[in-house]
Order: sequence, then C-alpha cells, then structure tokens
Amino acid sequence: MEDKVILTLGKQKNIALIAHDGKKQELIAWCEHNKEILKHHFLCGTGTTARMISDKTGLPVKGYNSGPLGGDQQIGAKIVEGRIDFMVFFSDPLTAQPHDPDVKALMRIAQVYDIPIAVNKASADFMLTSKFMNAEYNHAVIDFGKNIAKRAETL
Ligand code: PGA
Repeated sequence: MEDKVILTLGKQKNIALIAHDGKKQELIAWCEHNKEILKHHFLCGTGTTARMISDKTGLPVKGYNSGPLGGDQQIGAKIVEGRIDFMVFFSDPLTAQPHDPDVKALMRIAQVYDIPIAVNKASADFMLTSKFMNAEYNHAVIDFGKNIAKRAETL
C-alpha cells in the first residue's frame, strides 16, 4: 500500500480544456453554454483549443502549445506540479491521432494524480454541476517524497 498525502483542490479551480479537431465545436458550444460557471475559474488549454474558445466565447483561456506539438505534455507537467485541478478533454474516439502516446500519457498522469477528467459532454455536464465545483475538495494522492525514499531504500 502506497503512502498517501492529502492535497486540496481549491474552490476556484484551474481547469484545462482540450478538444481534438472533430470535437472542437462541441467543446466551444459547451463553454459558451457554461460561461457563467467557467468565468469563476482559471482556464487553460492546448493552443488551438484555447485560442478558439477565447475567440468564440470571450473567456480568458491561457494557451499552451498545440496538442500534437507538445501541449498535452505541458498540461501533464502542470498536473504533476499541482497546478491543474480539473480537466475537460473531448477526445475523438473515431479519428486516429498522430500524438496518441501523448494523449495516453496525459490521461494516465491525470489518473495518477486523481484529477477529475471529463471526456465527453455528458461527463462534463455532470462534473460541472457537482457541488464540489464550488468548494474545496480534499483528495489523497500518492506521497511522492515517501515513494522515492522507500524505492531508494529497497531497490
Ligand atoms: P489543439 O490540440 O488544441 O492545439 O488542437 C489538441 C489536441 O489535439 O490534443
């Protein structure tokens, strides 16, 4: 059993927004529909998705690199640093992606850090209307300091 540490997702969430090309219009429409809620949080996203959401809804969205050029990995790194609390990732299940390994890596690291992930509109609707959106949320994640200490001792 891994040692765990309790971390807190703040009341105001750092939300990452990502959509594959075939899902961009759907995510933009979702953001427009939920603008009143989203404007109370800090938004970021992969380059093209962030730009399009900003342009179409007026919401401020900090953009990283485009997904296929490393944007997914940048967002994964922010999760590791504890700087992203919540992810809405409308991935396209019907189209092969050149950066599939990066997509898998991002999903995996979000799971490791117990970050809520919405992969389609229904899950995003359920999650955005959760009572936890307006409250702090404590969750237990693997204590990485202790993990390294244990590994260094035992391997
Ligand atoms: P994009 O990247 O927002 O720059 O299009 C998204 C992705 O395909 O991962």
